[in-house]
Amino acid sequence: MAVFKGKGVYGAVAVGKALIFKRQAAQVRRVSVQDTEHELERVNSAKELAVQQLEQIHEKALKEVGETNAEIFEIHIMMLDDEDYNESIKSIIQTQKVNAEYAVAVTSDNFAEMFSSMDDAYMQARSADVKDISNRLIACLTDSGDNTSVSDDKMIVCADDLAPSETVSLDKDKVLAFVTAFGSSNSHTAILARNMNIPAVIGVGQEFLDALEDGCLVGVDGHTGEVFVSPDEQTVRQLEQKQAEDIRKKQLLQELKGKENVTLDGTKINIFANIGGVGGIGAVLANDAGGIGLFRSEFLYLESEDYPTEEQQFQAYKKVLESMSGKKVVIRTLDIGADKQIDYFRLDKEDNPALGFRAIRICLTRPELFRTQLRALYRASAFGELGIMFPMITSVSEVQKCLDMCEQVRNELSAEGIRFNESTELGIMIETPAAAVISDKLAPMVDFFSVGTNDLTQYTLACDRQNAKLEPFVDTHHEAVLRLIEMSAKNAHANNAWIGICGELAADLSLTEEFLKMGIDELSVSPPFVLPLREKVRSISLK
Ligand code: PEP
Ligand code: MG
Repeated sequence: MAVFKGKGVYGAVAVGKALIFKRQAAQVRRVSVQDTEHELERVNSAKELAVQQLEQIHEKALKEVGETNAEIFEIHIMMLDDEDYNESIKSIIQTQKVNAEYAVAVTSDNFAEMFSSMDDAYMQARSADVKDISNRLIACLTDSGDNTSVSDDKMIVCADDLAPSETVSLDKDKVLAFVTAFGSSNSHTAILARNMNIPAVIGVGQEFLDALEDGCLVGVDGHTGEVFVSPDEQTVRQLEQKQAEDIRKKQLLQELKGKENVTLDGTKINIFANIGGVGGIGAVLANDAGGIGLFRSEFLYLESEDYPTEEQQFQAYKKVLESMSGKKVVIRTLDIGADKQIDYFRLDKEDNPALGFRAIRICLTRPELFRTQLRALYRASAFGELGIMFPMITSVSEVQKCLDMCEQVRNELSAEGIRFNESTELGIMIETPAAAVISDKLAPMVDFFSVGTNDLTQYTLACDRQNAKLEPFVDTHHEAVLRLIEMSAKNAHANNAWIGICGELAADLSLTEEFLKMGIDELSVSPPFVLPLREKVRSISLK
């Protein structure tokens, strides 16, 4: 038996035979041509075919992994149409007088290299997408068709890496698990695997592939990230026990749907969900969340090529509110900068982006941008139970400016005769130590606080949350962070404001009891954590 360790991206267990994923990678040769026009025509026909294939994959993905996750294939279709990408292929064919396959392969390498050298992890992950669309285009040029194949038995698919289209093209019913030697947890493949509910471990290293033979027994533990090649009987038994336990837990959790989030001694708490876009609503409802505690509105901006208009934003916010049928929806105003960069904002490069020009600082410096978003939010407020929340607050004057801007927007809408909910709640994120320390002054100004523990931890412990090297120095249960949360809770309640937690710590079940004792009113977590958290709350006695 050989054991390999990677990163579990979906926590479930599988034991089965290995299928080494073979890509019929077309061998691309450089061939000199005279008739460059003919090569350009071949590229166009191949593109049409590739788009047809991607449309079919998109359809399949819509059914299997939902709208948001299927979007990547729409993006692939758009990437195939990208002006720079096509211009590069055309110019290589024309200037070097070479075959289309070669021009696509060189373009693919150049673009993939460009993406992977970018600082931003999201952009780096796009390198795999360029390779994916280019391989498809080459396959269409060489007529080798679609390049995914899985045997008839249920297998554990083992690959160097999987492109998003390969992941979705696999027949879900025949895949027991995915294991890849490489790949990042930020990649769409990892996200898709998570949403397909298939055990998946990535980044186990080349040695894993070297140790494999087609059909050999493999055990995958998506909880620990361990992968066992030719596991011994005892390991198989342990994995099977874990698997049975997972199934039992999942069934039990389903029974919690519709039940209250109440401790054994009667303390109630709201359990809400965090989402990044309209596409997340399905998961919120499927997991029976009581509301949305954090809608990260910046994803609307990140997904656009240009500033989303008031109307576009209004439609998105309205849709979320209507879908939640009167349940509370807290929408956070734009939080970009730091790790979330958007080209069209043309923000300067900074030495310390986390301590830089981000979130509310951008909105207060560019009032038109802020005003547009607030108008869209207030207009949407007529369609449900909205809360508006401001990120990265550090001072009383910032909150005052936000409130003034809200008042101005309300006055404008009233003058225009546009309907909105006058009692829309206004709140702030507590994600800087400054905000927590002056929470006694901030609480009387707002209806609620929501603690962003991801940033609060980063700023309190002076550890950049993007820097993997600092992981040993980040104590997520650090007393300083917990004291700041407790202080904020006391000050919120002393001023009739409610307080929630929407950072990752909200899902940490080892802290649930402590949060309840602090009097936290709401915990907002990723949708799959709603039911486990409900189970935890129902098992606690505070007496
Ligand atoms: C946080 O900082 O905890 C938070 C919820 O915001 P984000 O992770 O989007 O910065
Ligand atoms: Mg934050």
